[in-house]
Amino acid sequence: MNERDYFYACTAGVQGGIARCRKEDGKCDNHHNGAAWPHAPEPDVVLVKMNLNQGRNAEFARAGVRQLTRSFERSEELSREHVARAEALDRKPFAVRQGRENDTTTPEAADSGCPVFGKTGLHSVTVRGLITELQLEGFVLSDAHRLFRFHKPPVRLVMEFVKKGAKPEITKFPWDLFNGLTETCFGQVDVWANDRSPKNGLVVHTVNCGQRDDKAQARYRLKFADGDWDADVIPLTLEVDLDA
Ligand SMILES: [Zn+2]
Repeated sequence: MNERDYFYACTAGVQGGIARCRKEDGKCDNHHNGAAWPHAPEPDVVLVKMNLNQGRNAEFARAGVRQLTRSFERSEELSREHVARAEALDRKPFAVRQGRENDTTTPEAADSGCPVFGKTGLHSVTVRGLITELQLEGFVLSDAHRLFRFHKPPVRLVMEFVKKGAKPEITKFPWDLFNGLTETCFGQVDVWANDRSPKNGLVVHTVNCGQRDDKAQARYRLKFADGDWDADVIPLTLEVDLDA
């Protein structure tokens, strides 16, 4: 029974367990409780992404985080790959980000994966503690860069976590800057549980953090939850007037 007050995707695996079901947990008529469905695949790679304003971009640059430039052509190529993967899974590639299929100014809107928190994502979210949780689950930081796209500003910080031993670990990363960057409330967090790549066999999950608002109070804390992802509800703190 799903008692969450937000959309949460069914945790069953489809297509023989290579992809996560896109229907809503508790309301999925394909995967009833108790039945022996394969579970959605756990991630081999977790990507954490968030925008950097000019000041923060400069700080991360000074701290040695390299910049990668993605061309419009490469973005289009990635978009074509997403479409092909979605079609191989019998999924509509633009079902989630509808209305953008003809928008050629911002490619990469095609998706083959499962949006864990639905089309509009999870709202009012803190990611505090998430990196620690990933580390406890055996993930290490294997890459960090600032992604620059002429056609799609602003610059995005992209961090790649892999299971320890899968790739060399990054030893130099400005965690203090990162902690400052994430000491905020994100208006929207989207988690994509992607299908197993037909190219390299890896399952990549992406955490997109957007609409930061330093003044807002978070309602949810994002958690990894053994690769299913989920959120803890943060209790409201009531201000008590002791003189009343
Ligand atoms: Zn399902």
